[in-house]
Amino acid sequence: MTIKSIRYLVVHCAATPPTRDIGVKEIRAMHLQRGFNDVGYHYVIRRDGRVEKGRADTVAGAHVSGFNSVSLGVCLIGGVDAKGQPDQNYTPAQYEALEQQLLKLQAAYPAAQILGHRDLSPDKNGDGKISPNEWLKACPCFDVRAWWNARGSR
Ligand SMILES: [Zn+2]
Repeated sequence: MTIKSIRYLVVHCAATPPTRDIGVKEIRAMHLQRGFNDVGYHYVIRRDGRVEKGRADTVAGAHVSGFNSVSLGVCLIGGVDAKGQPDQNYTPAQYEALEQQLLKLQAAYPAAQILGHRDLSPDKNGDGKISPNEWLKACPCFDVRAWWNARGSR
């Protein structure tokens, strides 16, 4: 993928409970088991805010159906509660790291839009908006665009 081909910076969650401290190594193992040839994401942000590199930015990921060839995937560890229900349970260090990582990526890929996985679900009723009933997954369990636009006012 080239700089011009990246249209989206897609935020994901690992759908793991907050007590599970995993990173690229563990996700790569899970994704290999699912038949991918590497970790599906380009970046993974651990619970303590450490950013780990996944695939090279020049290689298409495996993280968002229909958009892998035009996007980079950034995955936050966490995103479900102890019962496996969607839960916006990221740590302050993760939000800070996500903001810094997206700023870097935005500088490198100025044409790319920042959004969440759920925002790339199909618009079934064609109203131009992706509504909660159209989300294929809740991932990453928060409104990434609203969060991004509110930065600076936090
Ligand atoms: Zn996702």
